[in-house]
Amino acid sequence: MNYFAGLDIGSTAIKVALVDEGGRLAGVHVTESGSLFHKNAKEALRMLLERHGVDREQVKYLIATGYGRKLFKEADDSISEITANAIGAHEAGRAFGGVRTIINIGGQDSKAIQLDDQGNVANFAMNDKCAAGTGRFLDVAARNLNIDLEELGDYHFNGKGAPLTINSTCTVFAESETVSLLARGESPAKIIRGIHYAIANRISGMFARVGVEDEVLFTGGVAKNIGMRKALEEVLDSKILVSDFDPQLNGALVAAVIAKSRGGAET
Ligand code: ADP
Repeated sequence: MNYFAGLDIGSTAIKVALVDEGGRLAGVHVTESGSLFHKNAKEALRMLLERHGVDREQVKYLIATGYGRKLFKEADDSISEITANAIGAHEAGRAFGGVRTIINIGGQDSKAIQLDDQGNVANFAMNDKCAAGTGRFLDVAARNLNIDLEELGDYHFNGKGAPLTINSTCTVFAESETVSLLARGESPAKIIRGIHYAIANRISGMFARVGVEDEVLFTGGVAKNIGMRKALEEVLDSKILVSDFDPQLNGALVAAVIAKSRGGAET
């Protein structure tokens, strides 16, 4: 059996997807990027193949995407995250009757992408300078509050009380602001709600020029956070759509499907 792989080397997480020659998803793997992108990406691929009893030679075409894609020289080709997101959103969006705006929030950057009717990128904006509108802001907050990342979403809906206003727009200052709010006896739920709205406001400001439509497809690891979805929905005044398939795996899956269409034709 021949296989095709998509490897998304993100700033925070490495995602791998494996598709077989019948077009079926054979498996996925997610691991931390760490500082050794190339080594960790190789290891992630090796582990996924081993788990499914696939030899490296059976992988006929591999496409890399993401922040660290250029470091993976063994790839047959690479595509940008913007392209991967656009193709993935165009396909995933069909289930919702078509989507023209995508917001992707990853570990260290966020992007807003506008598509035209054919699913081509018409306009995009990217923030990779400031951690405040990214998953990093949430990672730091979760650590300070001693809460698992997976729990942040549920906390958003816990207990009563308006979200607290988080004034600091810089992650470093927000960290000390969170600590002083805790010391004042504020509940973690209100703090987390405040952080979600602070990020949503930041995203809204950053991406205003791209133009946001009534329906927005939300991708990237942060889209797993249901509290963040709710905050974005309210601040952007748009319906936030998230695919049933893990939104963090969007890029890797698109890369694997493209790898199959290219490698499948060759083999
Ligand atoms: P990148 O491609 O930039 O590495 P990802 O799209 O993989 O980023 O997203 C990583 C971010 O997703 C993390 O920083 C974290 O904030 C968030 N994340 C990952 N898993 C979860 C989860 N289960 N619940 C909430 N947030 C998550």
